Amino acid sequence: MAHVISDECIACGACQATCPVDAISEGDPKYSIDPAVCTDCGACVDSCPVDAISAE
Ligand code: SF4
Repeated sequence: MAHVISDECIACGACQATCPVDAISEGDPKYSIDPAVCTDCGACVDSCPVDAISAE
């Protein structure tokens, strides 16, 4: 289990700094969460202005 970033992502980057384990990286065209690193803590969810992050 990991959190995922949907196609709603506008690549603003707001979530990246909120992740305590550095699982979020910039991608093209959207940011992505490395499922091997994500601990499912949920810290990033509220940082997204377009609600693109959810539990898988
Ligand atoms: Fe990082 Fe937690 Fe979001 Fe996973 S759920 S990407 S560990 S902030």
